[in-house]
Amino acid sequence: MRNEIYDTTLRDGAQRAGLQFSVEDKLKVLHALDSIGVPFVEGGWPGANPRDTEFFRLATQERLQHSTLTAFGMTRRAGEAAGDSPVLREVLDAGTPVVCLVGKSWDLHVTEALRTTLEENLAMVADSIAMLVAEGRRAFFDAEHFFDGYRRNPEYALSVLRAAEEAGAQRLVLCDTNGGTLPHEAARVVQEVLGAVSTPVGVHFHNDAGCAVANSVLAAEAGALQVQGTMNGYGERCGNADLVPIVANLSLKLDRPPLPDGSLERLTETAHVVAEIANIVPDPHQPYAGRNAFAHKAGLHVSAIVRRPDAYEHIEPGSVGNSNHIVVSDLAGRANLLRKAEELGVDLQPDAVAGILSKLKDLEARGYAFEAADASLELFLRRATGWRQELFAVETFRILVEEHEKTGALAEATVKARSNGERHIETAEGHGPVGALDNALRLALGRTYPELEKMELTDYRVRVLDGTKGTGAVVRVLIEMTDGEREWTTVGVSENIIQASYEALAEAYTYGLLLDTGAPGA
Ligand SMILES: [Zn+2]
Repeated sequence: MRNEIYDTTLRDGAQRAGLQFSVEDKLKVLHALDSIGVPFVEGGWPGANPRDTEFFRLATQERLQHSTLTAFGMTRRAGEAAGDSPVLREVLDAGTPVVCLVGKSWDLHVTEALRTTLEENLAMVADSIAMLVAEGRRAFFDAEHFFDGYRRNPEYALSVLRAAEEAGAQRLVLCDTNGGTLPHEAARVVQEVLGAVSTPVGVHFHNDAGCAVANSVLAAEAGALQVQGTMNGYGERCGNADLVPIVANLSLKLDRPPLPDGSLERLTETAHVVAEIANIVPDPHQPYAGRNAFAHKAGLHVSAIVRRPDAYEHIEPGSVGNSNHIVVSDLAGRANLLRKAEELGVDLQPDAVAGILSKLKDLEARGYAFEAADASLELFLRRATGWRQELFAVETFRILVEEHEKTGALAEATVKARSNGERHIETAEGHGPVGALDNALRLALGRTYPELEKMELTDYRVRVLDGTKGTGAVVRVLIEMTDGEREWTTVGVSENIIQASYEALAEAYTYGLLLDTGAPGA
């Protein structure tokens, strides 16, 4: 059997602290999810904020291949007629074929939060669902705080589900709104609910107990049809159930593939695309989709991994669109480096390997972290095999930082560079010294390489490393850059933070320009 995925990245996921989706962003996420065949995509809560209303106006005109757009809303208020509810009116006006309505199923919330009677709450659920059905919509019912409510008053929690069912709801979704449920309870409750209702059941878990993915998988195994969650587990507090491992587990381990055939191979890519749109650095350790999810570090095992990857990996990484690139580190042996070089498309002569390895180990001892900076590693390997960077040369750069009484600090950088036989001298400002340097560098090189326009610095991280050689602290800078399609990371190390930043920046532009000519193996 196949499970059914209901994505709520655009509503519940957007509750994550610091996450802001513009209308444009939301449309991009919708298309990314549509392209891998997610059947239901919840666009937001029309009426709750102007942005969501505007999103639905645009999104309902988009042509989607697989996904059905859904709107989220709340049942009518106590004492109000469903026909008079402004909330229901806004949800209907959004014009989606499916509407998911949330209602209370924990008696404590009815009496304490809504301050109404248990009977009135049943009527609120029934009237609201019935109104949607009468208006020709498919109605899903999100039973808020279901697991907590069921634990304390199972009779009442079930009577709420029955009220929604009798009014015509097509899915009864059990929500673990506080996120504290454990897997064995999740499975048991789903089984018991299935014995009490005949409408297909869904689940919606939050991750406050660290069990959202496990709960979702066990609930699906126990018979829940629909699994709600968000891409990369985005959501408030500790997040929602992460659809990435859920989809992979259901597909690869339980034979309940929730996406159309051929979509699973695009899971990693889609997880990263959504992270990109959300402007959140993808978690390198995310199960299945993380960059390091299949990256082996132990040098001792590498030759065995190359021979029998199935002995060291729980799935074939390519099945979810990931790869088992091997992390290079000072533990790495010869086999590790050769394999890495092959992966990057760099041809290493066997007799050169020993020399390259010792150079690499020396650099890592000085603070370079190549396992986090594939682009720098590739440039290093290329140089080690005789390649010379002839795209540009920076003669000098100079940075001034001025502190103004009124406007605060302002930095100014001047770069003198040569490219394509010409010399360019450019000055630019920035809020900080690295920003100013980046701007001046882009101006100077942009004369020859207009493609720099597309490249954008997406992450800049500084770490101070312990001064182990008595020379004082060393600074390591990691820079992440993207051209809108690919992303790459470079590293710079120095006792001087500006020098380390310059090194990482120059490497990042070098790599980006090479990518444009198709040279690197990445
Ligand atoms: Zn939720």
